[in-house]
Amino acid sequence: MKRAIVRPENSEPSFDGSLFESPEFVTRLTRVAQLWHYVLVSRALVYFACAFFPGLPGFFDRPSQWLVLALGIGCDLVLTVIGQLSRTPGNALARRTMLWGTSCMTLIALGTLLTSIAMFVSSPSVDATPYADAFAAIRIGAVLVAAAAVAIARPAFFAFAGATALGGAIGKASMPFAFAAMIFLFLLIVMVREDARHQRRTERANRKAISDQQRALNLVRDFERAGRGWFWETDRHGQLVYISPTVAAKLGRAPSDLRGKPFTDIIRKRIGNDESEERTLGFSLSSRTPFKELTVQAAVPGEERWWSISGHPISNELGNFQGFRGSGTDLTEKKKSEREINQLARYDVLTGLANRLHITDLLERALKNHIGQPQPCALLLMDLDRFKAVNDTLGHPVGDQLLQQVAARLAQIVGDRGQVGRLGGDEFQIVLPQITHADKLANIANAVILSLAKPFAIEGEQVRVGSSIGIAVSEGAGVSSAALVRNADLALYAAKDAGRGVYRFYADAMHNQASERKAIEDALRDALAKDELKLVYQPIVDVASERISGFEALIRWQRGDEAMISPSKFIPIAEESNLIVPIGEWIIRSACASIARLGPDHRIAVNVSPRQFANDKLPATIMSAVSAAGIRPEQLELEITEGVFLDESPENLEMFQRLKRTGVRLALDDFGTGYSALGYLKKAPFDKIKIDQSFVRGAADKSSMNAAIISSIVGLAAALKMETTAEGVETHDDLDLIRGLGCSHVQGYIYGRPMSLDEAVALLRADGGRVVAQGYKSARETRSRTFRTIQVESGGHRYEAIVRNLSTRGALIEGLWNVPAGTGFRLEFGPDLVLDAEARWSDQNRVGVQFAQAVEITALIGGSVAGQSVRARIERAA
Ligand code: C2E
Ligand code: CA
Ligand code: CA
Repeated sequence: MKRAIVRPENSEPSFDGSLFESPEFVTRLTRVAQLWHYVLVSRALVYFACAFFPGLPGFFDRPSQWLVLALGIGCDLVLTVIGQLSRTPGNALARRTMLWGTSCMTLIALGTLLTSIAMFVSSPSVDATPYADAFAAIRIGAVLVAAAAVAIARPAFFAFAGATALGGAIGKASMPFAFAAMIFLFLLIVMVREDARHQRRTERANRKAISDQQRALNLVRDFERAGRGWFWETDRHGQLVYISPTVAAKLGRAPSDLRGKPFTDIIRKRIGNDESEERTLGFSLSSRTPFKELTVQAAVPGEERWWSISGHPISNELGNFQGFRGSGTDLTEKKKSEREINQLARYDVLTGLANRLHITDLLERALKNHIGQPQPCALLLMDLDRFKAVNDTLGHPVGDQLLQQVAARLAQIVGDRGQVGRLGGDEFQIVLPQITHADKLANIANAVILSLAKPFAIEGEQVRVGSSIGIAVSEGAGVSSAALVRNADLALYAAKDAGRGVYRFYADAMHNQASERKAIEDALRDALAKDELKLVYQPIVDVASERISGFEALIRWQRGDEAMISPSKFIPIAEESNLIVPIGEWIIRSACASIARLGPDHRIAVNVSPRQFANDKLPATIMSAVSAAGIRPEQLELEITEGVFLDESPENLEMFQRLKRTGVRLALDDFGTGYSALGYLKKAPFDKIKIDQSFVRGAADKSSMNAAIISSIVGLAAALKMETTAEGVETHDDLDLIRGLGCSHVQGYIYGRPMSLDEAVALLRADGGRVVAQGYKSARETRSRTFRTIQVESGGHRYEAIVRNLSTRGALIEGLWNVPAGTGFRLEFGPDLVLDAEARWSDQNRVGVQFAQAVEITALIGGSVAGQSVRARIERAA
């Protein structure tokens, strides 16, 4: 019995080799040895019975009895001692398991063999006394006690059984006994084999089950320790019986501390509309139903930590509820990134303001109260003036910083009165819930305009932009957010139209304006086909010789029987609708044909709009028009506005080169109105600079800086060998000044208004192209305050209004409400004193109007002057 009975076929578990190396067997054997004193006692009883019971005489006469039994008991005594010794900790036997196991097994087998021999030798005589029953009971008892003891370790039991059978056979010394014993031994061996096999199987299964369990436990531990998740279990009262140590640590407590505490203690109770998951948890716990992935906040002091928890009720075999068991994971990081994503989805990355989506949502919410009833709200739409120029000339990083600073100023002004959002580009929206009072809104708009007008310091440079604002108000009448945005948009449009840097409230008339635009656009589509467009020509005069050097072609649109539509009105519409491309081509071809009529010594300039300039086919169109008309290319001059040049893109510069290669002349139009460095002048091959009217008008006024500006432009142009044309010269004073400043050319009413081609040809022929300046002496009078009631006629209606301020070019009129910019008027200062004018801006009941041409104020203040009507004077001036 040295080899293991239990020897695994596949080398699976740890035990391999001798039976005595199986710790389990050794422990069991030890237990047998430790119990062996009972066997000792029972066998001592047998000895006692054999020796002293009557009916068993001659015990001491037969050494085969007394000696053998005594020897057997001696073995038992040794085993008992060994067993008791094994109880003492750290005994030497424990380490020498091989020796110890074999000794035990030997002692068991030997002791049993000897006692068995002795017991079977000593059978009581046939005439049995009552002692004989007791003797039989003691013998059987001794066998049973020993059997019970060895039953603990199966191999020991088999050794015992074999020894008993063998001992019996020897003791009886009878062949029949031996034969019977042989049969039993055989049975025993078969049994041993089968049992061994069975044991091997169960042991393997056990070991596997244990190792699976252990492995699962280890995995769980690793899982817990890695902080990837945690586990919990409660009893039937909802009190924790287990919680992963990692979570306990996060909660700042020992797991033992939490045991016995309600599970819900580890969850933070929140109030608000977000706590539905917690309610679900409470419900599940009390209704004993499973729950899955509920998001709850951990009761971690001073920290925001989120968990996702799942759990299911557990019950015993009888189906009785025993508590909950479940798991949890940490959601904090996920929540954080969710929030970041949310932030990205709702806020503008550059400025941190609400983005278009979010501000639209906020506006919608501001327009309704919590029960869905409409409530008052105002919307401001703000657009930066000249932002594109900053972006293009100073670069996008500067543009970005500018936007950030703008956002900061806006947020500071608006404060908690409302919400600021960036719609994209340089467009911002401000939602002001509950504010509808015009004064308050005007104050806010003013504050924004003033604040944004102050320079921004970016990378050591001072950057200036302005802003225009459109305001739309919903008084709580259930205006939709889309309608409010559209209204604010129209108001913004009006603000920009009014010269920027101002705010405008939405007025219903603006809608008419917008639809008017649409109507114009539609009519413009047919204008070419209907032959409604024509060109007029305004002379450009050489200052030194006072001779006409050429003309500027200006477009006119006579729409049916209606009044002439100003190009300043329809050209922008043509631009937006891209109609400018076919119209522009028609202009170029017509102008070239006109040049052919003027003769080889004259030029005509045409205006080229930015859209046309961006059109790749422009140079080809020009070349074909020039050759079709049979003129020299340098007779055609293209006036390109400064705005085009703000974008110093390679394509842009390339277009300049291509145009230059066609041989036409290039003029920089409206110089000074743009917003850019003068540096680009060096890069573009201009032949001429046209100084904008806004610098020229009233330049002779001593208080104005314009003269200095013109002088420096002229200096620059001379250095670059370019001509200069001063536009819009109306008075002799201005002309004298312009001449004095060294401008090479002059264009203005003083030398002639735009005229038909026939008139232009006639003018050229008349005096060899020599012209005489005709106009007022000066327009020096600046504003004067008045208080005069006049009649105003507009759109077929007559109104009464008060003139508050007067200048040679315009007036401030009070008493007309919400007049859209661009509205035309006839102002009747007296029976003969009628002036055409146009609204430039309006604010509630005040309108700023610009006269169609300069007038002398004295005429207006004093009524008629020396019997001449203003109209007559103006006509004479022209
Ligand atoms: P612009 O190119 O600056 O043209 C000069 C404008 O100033 C013309 O107005 C002209 O009539 C006006 N003007 C000239 N001298 C005087 C003056 O002494 N006093 C006053 N008060 N005004 C003077 P117009 O013809 O109404 O054109 C306005 C603008 O419309 C033009 O400004 C130009 O930007 C655009 N435009 C006109 N014709 C065309 C065209 O054929 N093509 C394109 N693309 N734009 C055009
Ligand atoms: Ca022009
Ligand atoms: Ca111009």
